[in-house]
Amino acid sequence: MTDKFNAFMMTESDGVREASLTQLTEADLPDEEVLIKISYSGLNYKDGLAICGKGIARRFPMVGGIDLVGSVIDGGQTEFAAGDKVIVNGWGLSEVHWGGFSQKQRVNPDWLVRMPTGFAEQETMAIGTAGYTAMLCVLALQEQGLKPEDGEILVTGAAGGVGSVAISLLSSLGYQVVASTGRQETHDYLRFLGASDFISRNELSEAGRPFQKERWAGAVDTVGTTTLANVLSQTQYDGVVTCCGLAGGADLPASVLPFILRNVHLIGVDSVMASKERRQQAWDRLESDLDREKLAELTTVEPMSALPHLGPKIVEGKTRGRVVIDVNR
Ligand code: NDP
Repeated sequence: MTDKFNAFMMTESDGVREASLTQLTEADLPDEEVLIKISYSGLNYKDGLAICGKGIARRFPMVGGIDLVGSVIDGGQTEFAAGDKVIVNGWGLSEVHWGGFSQKQRVNPDWLVRMPTGFAEQETMAIGTAGYTAMLCVLALQEQGLKPEDGEILVTGAAGGVGSVAISLLSSLGYQVVASTGRQETHDYLRFLGASDFISRNELSEAGRPFQKERWAGAVDTVGTTTLANVLSQTQYDGVVTCCGLAGGADLPASVLPFILRNVHLIGVDSVMASKERRQQAWDRLESDLDREKLAELTTVEPMSALPHLGPKIVEGKTRGRVVIDVNR
């Protein structure tokens, strides 16, 4: 008898996309070298889009989930042996390769990062792509020379996954963090993570003048569009802004003035195709810098069966912090 296991699969038929729980066998899995028993995945904005059929999936059927953590069952001829704990973030999972919403998966060894020993498996998915991207943003700010004494750092989309981890990291590193959120009810939560002040989402999302009063020494922007344009216009001379997200929109209706008159630096951040070395650097820094109490506060754990209602929730900006998916429930 063949052992069946659960997976969350997206299908497309006559242009109509559907996403639901299904059962697979190992024989159904892709022809990749390392077989993994998955323990947790995570819910990211992209997963929400995929579940809602707005998707990122470029071929069907597709197992969702851009992240996974688990133990190697069979490492083939690779450096990975049975029992090794590993993580995958991005690399086209749930887009062109089957992803982490499954109890088992076969993956390419080049995508694997060894799980940092300082984290439990569930914690690595509480971080997930969103948290690892937040770390990439913080690394970029620091590489541009930004120091706590330079002034306030703004984080937009503050109560979301990237925003919550960015606030936790920046405050632990001694930066003064201002959180921009559309949800006033999250203020106590954001204060616990380390935000010292707040600015309403609406204040930044209205179209503003191209050159405004200088306020931010740096920013982590997850929203894009007019919000990012306003953030750039309010950034101090020599300030640094990282851009990783489009929760508000993918356009950028901005002027060149902040760049040519204030020497503002706009740094793009991509996590999906980041090199193995960069990923390792980010995970090492997460291990040393991320406050575990704050990580626990920003985490919710849900079963894989909850994905159909969690997808729309994250796309509508209604989840808080990070949602871990327990694929075995
Ligand atoms: P979440 O959905 O968890 O958080 C996004 C937050 O943005 C929401 O919680 C909300 O925060 C705010 N928001 C939602 N809708 C709007 C809107 N219409 N206008 C302004 N603000 C809004 O997503 P993540 O934190 O996981 O991801 C954030 C963004 O970063 C996404 O666009 C995602 O695709 C992108 N991303 C990019 C990566 C990369 O490699 N470049 C990797 C990971 C994520 P609040 O309620 O506090 O206002």
